This record gives sequence, structure tokens and C-alpha cells, in this order.
Amino acid sequence: MAVIGFIGLGNMGGPMAANLVKAGHSVRGFDLVPAAIDAAREAGVAIGASPADVAREADIVITMLPSGKHVLGVYDGAEGIVAAARPGALLIDSSTIDVDSARKAHALAAAKGAASLDAPVSGGVGGAAAGTLTFMAGGEADAFERARPVLEAMGKKIVLCGGAGAGQAAKICNNMILGISMIGVCEAFVLAEKLGLSHQSLFDVASTASGQCWSLTSYCPVPGPVPASPANRDYQPGFAAALMLKDLKLAQEASQSAGAPTPLGAAATQLYAMMAAAGEGGADFSGIIRMLRGDNA
Ligand code: NAD
Repeated sequence: MAVIGFIGLGNMGGPMAANLVKAGHSVRGFDLVPAAIDAAREAGVAIGASPADVAREADIVITMLPSGKHVLGVYDGAEGIVAAARPGALLIDSSTIDVDSARKAHALAAAKGAASLDAPVSGGVGGAAAGTLTFMAGGEADAFERARPVLEAMGKKIVLCGGAGAGQAAKICNNMILGISMIGVCEAFVLAEKLGLSHQSLFDVASTASGQCWSLTSYCPVPGPVPASPANRDYQPGFAAALMLKDLKLAQEASQSAGAPTPLGAAATQLYAMMAAAGEGGADFSGIIRMLRGDNA
């Protein structure tokens, strides 16, 4: 069993670290927020004094932080985890961050001779608690094979997507599809309502026809056809619109820096920004149907 450092014990990192403890690993963590520290300690995580303190003893250091700026802040500098890491340590960043920062984090690790992976997740807080996350990894194959047994304690699907930054690229491409497809499904339901077509009739046809997609069949944005979807519980998340907006912004940054035209991604970003500006950023992202329908006007 490995000695694992875990930095960022928030909504995702807290339960992920707890699952590593349950799997028998020795976990030392760090966070800035006392409530996160207390909850992690309760789950059996030993608490270090700083990111560097946690990294110094660890075979593997996992970060689960809000953004690229936070990750590079924790990686870099004399007090950073790269400087503190043991020779041969493996650094895994599971935060969702921009591809450029992910590649910088890999470069910092490589300069110190440490192995590294970007390994963002999907599956949300529920998946983090249940240990059923999907990990999308970028980095060298041998780093991935070292990480696999540790990631398997927190997730059920672990995929190596390519070299440095490929995990982040896969994550934002997938979530751009999701953000766009959800808006398409919502627009179809709003049009159906105006045309006097019932939700169930549209669902019965489109779910088995060419309009079929995950946003419709697993996460239907109107109550009724898919009982487990957030539409049936007043759009409580699930996956909050603010997090969808974060991922769409990352996709827009990446498409600009890579020169890829993503006009529907840009439109989806604007619509989720409007939803957040209307005070609905904490609602599930499928709740954008209410804005499209004009319910909030
Ligand atoms: P969160 O805000 O609950 O947790 C982030 C934690 O990082 C906080 O507890 C914060 O105090 C801590 N932190 C910030 N700077 C720090 C530092 N310098 N040192 C130590 N700790 C520091 O966020 P979250 O929901 O756990 O998300 C974490 C990451 O996972 C984000 O990148 C997010 O986009 C991604 N993600 C979240 C979800 C979700 O459903 N919440 C799903 C998939 C991916």
C-alpha cells in the first residue's frame, strides 16, 4: 500500500481521500479550509502542515483544486510540492484545469525528475463518494500503470487518453458535447410545448430515433420521462450550471489557443453565463430549460 499525499479536500477531494483510506493506503492531506480538514481527519486522513509537508513523505501526491492557477501555485516554487517531492515520486492532478496549465505542471514535474499525470474526473460528488469516478489521464504509460491501482480505489473507469494534457483535453471536449447537447434537447422540449406536443410523446419518439443522446435518455430536462433526472427534484444538482460554465470556458480557451472553430461551444458558454448571471449557477445545468422557456423572466 502506498503513502499518498492529497491536497484539496473539498467536495470531491474529501470523499476521494476517504476512499483511499478505506482501500488501506496511508493518506496525509492538506486543505486551507478548517471544515474540509476536520471532515478528512474524521475519515482517517492524517493532516499535514502544508502541501510541501504532505509531499515530502509521499510516494504519490494527488491534487484536487479549483483551477490551473491553484494547481501551479501548489506545484511551483521553493515551498511547492515539486521541490518537496521524493525522488521517483508520482504527481497526479485530478482537478479540472486548462490544458496549458496542465502541460506546465507536467513540465515542472519533469524538470525535477518526477513522474506526472493529469487525470481529471467525471462522475461528480456522488461518484467521488461511491468510488465510481471515471478518470481521463494524460501522461506517460508507465506513470499511468503506477497510478492505476490507486485510481481504481476512487473510480471504476480509468482511461489513458494520450500524452501530457490529454486527460484535460478529453474532459473539456466531452463536456462541450454535453453542454451543447443539453441545450439542443431543452430547445426541442420548449418548441414541443409551444406546438402542443407532450413531453412524453417527444421523449418516446426522440429517445429511439435520431435525436437520441445522453442528455435526453439519461438526464431528461423535463420531469417525468426519466425519473432519476434532476428535473424531477426542481433541478437540484447533479452537475451545477456554474461547473458546466467553468468547463465550457476552459473549452473556449483551448479552442482559441489551438485555433479550432467551436461556434456552438461559444453559444453554449454564453447561455450558461446568462443562467449563472440570473442567479441560477447553483441549479443543475439541465435547469437551463427554465431560462430558455422564459420561466425566470
Ligand atoms: P471545492 O471548492 O469543494 O474543493 C477545492 C478545495 O481546494 C477547497 O477545499 C479549497 O480550500 C482547496 N484549496 C484551494 N487552494 C488550496 C491550496 N493552495 N492548498 C490546499 N487546498 C486548497 O471543489 P470541488 O467540487 O471539490 O472540485 C475540485 C476540482 O474537481 C475542480 O477542479 C472541479 O472543476 C473538479 N470537478 C468537480 C466536480 C463536482 O461535481 N464538484 C466534478 C468533476 C470535476
